[in-house]
Amino acid sequence: MVEVQGVHKLFGDLHVLKGIDLTVQRGEVTVLLGPSGSGKSTLIRCINELEQISSGRLFVDGELMGLREKNGVLHRLSDKEIAHQRSKIGMVFQRFNLFPHMTALENVIEAQRQVLKRSKGAAEARAREELVKVGLADRMDHYPAQLSGGQQQRVAMARALAMDPQLMLFDEPTSALDPELVGEVLNVMKDLADSGMTMIVVTHEVGFAREVADQVVFMDDGVIVERGTAAEVIDNPQQDRTKDFFAKVL
Ligand code: ADP
Ligand code: MG
Repeated sequence: MVEVQGVHKLFGDLHVLKGIDLTVQRGEVTVLLGPSGSGKSTLIRCINELEQISSGRLFVDGELMGLREKNGVLHRLSDKEIAHQRSKIGMVFQRFNLFPHMTALENVIEAQRQVLKRSKGAAEARAREELVKVGLADRMDHYPAQLSGGQQQRVAMARALAMDPQLMLFDEPTSALDPELVGEVLNVMKDLADSGMTMIVVTHEVGFAREVADQVVFMDDGVIVERGTAAEVIDNPQQDRTKDFFAKVL
C-alpha cells in the first residue's frame, strides 16, 4: 500500500528525513514511535503530500507520489494528480479541526459533498453510518463545543472514514486528550484495524502498539533506527537509541 524508498526531506538547511525506507502492506497497522523532532510527522505528511519530499521515491497504492523524473528533471505532481492520490488517504491529526459552526453530522457530510460530490441523501446516510460506528449515535446533532475531546476526535475519524480511504494516517490522535478520554479513541482505532484498514499511526501509546501493530518502527533524528514486531522493537530492542527511548517511556 505504501512504499518509501530512500526518501530525504530538507526544510532549508535542516535535514529532517535522512534516507527513509519503509514498506506498509495492505491491511497492516504500522506504529511509528520516536522522540519529539525525529521526523515522524514530516514522514506521514510527505505520504499525504502535505509536504513535498526532497529526493527519493514514494508510492501509495502503486502510484508514484512526491516527485517524478521527466527528461532528467524532477517535477512535482500536478494538482490533479495530488488530489487523486490524496483522495485515497484519510488523515487524523492531534487537533481535530472540526468546523465549529456545524454539528457532528454536518461535519461528516461536508467533505463528502464538496470532494466526492455525493448527493445530500447519500452523504447523510453515510455520515450517520460512520458516526454510529465510532459510538456517537446519540451525539450527531451536537456542535463541537458541546462534545468532549474524545468525541470530537471520533467525529474527525468518522469524517475521514466517510471518504472511503484505502489508507489512514494518524498523527498523535490522542496526545491532546485528557487521559480518561484516550481509551475511547484507541478502541475505535482498534476496531478499524480489525476491519482490515491499512493504518500508519504515530503515537506514544505503547500499549496500543503492542496490541494492534503488525509493524513497529522506531525513528530518531531522521532515520529509522529499528523496525520489527512490538515484541522485538519495544520489548527487546537491539540498538542503544531504541533502548534509551523505551527505558524512559515505559
Ligand atoms: P516529530 O513529529 O517526530 O516530532 P517533526 O516531523 O514534526 O518531528 O519535525 C522534525 C524536524 O523538522 C523538527 O526539527 C522540526 O522543527 C522540523 N520541521 C517540521 N516541519 C517544519 C517546517 N514546516 N519548516 C521547518 N522545519 C520543520
Ligand atoms: Mg509530530
